[in-house]
Amino acid sequence: MQETTLDIHYVGSYKSVSECPMLPEPEYCFIGRSNVGKSSIINYITGRDEIARTSKKPGKTQSINLFKVTEESPWMMADLPGYGFAAISKTTRGEWSEMIDGYVMGRQNLVCTFLLIDIRHKRLENDREFMNYMGEKGIPFCILYTKSDKLKPMELKNSLAAYEEAMLTEWEAMPPTIVTSSVKDLGRQEILDYIHNLNEIFKSQAL
Ligand code: GDP
Repeated sequence: MQETTLDIHYVGSYKSVSECPMLPEPEYCFIGRSNVGKSSIINYITGRDEIARTSKKPGKTQSINLFKVTEESPWMMADLPGYGFAAISKTTRGEWSEMIDGYVMGRQNLVCTFLLIDIRHKRLENDREFMNYMGEKGIPFCILYTKSDKLKPMELKNSLAAYEEAMLTEWEAMPPTIVTSSVKDLGRQEILDYIHNLNEIFKSQAL
């Protein structure tokens, strides 16, 4: 039986990957457009709302925020800034994407990126570009579809099928996907199982 809260603590906020401490634990990052539900999902997975609140403090929203989850096999969680926020200037957006690029390309212990997609929307251009970028660089990611409770079951089924169809026009196969709702308690265990499986693989490769 999985605990509903994780034993997690804040490690620090960093402006670039080169400032992040080198750590031996496997790391998982959360990335998505602003308002996609990233803070909500981090609260939901960890069961600790102070975690995403820390990331939302002024000065930390534009940082790489690292947290350590202390379990039998400890792992790291990285909360990255939201992208595609229309209200910010191009220059700032450039800095953000540089931070994200630098992190996903340079973070040695990064095992998987959770890319959040609001399943109510059609495939959006900046999500598409980001996925293609990750694909070109060979950086593994898992899609977390958010806010699934906002759709009726049939609408959800159709949206998932439409998203997959749109992706498969460019991709040979779908990456792993998990349907979530932080409001209706959906997806947490699947995400944690996914992380725990990858932790085992990471450990066996590190031996
Ligand atoms: P962030 O900007 O990506 O961190 O997004 P937030 O976590 O702050 O969420 C943005 C808005 O979406 C907030 O009003 C949340 O309450 C709402 N939201 C997030 N996740 C869900 C969800 O699973 N279901 C529903 N119904 N609303 C959600």
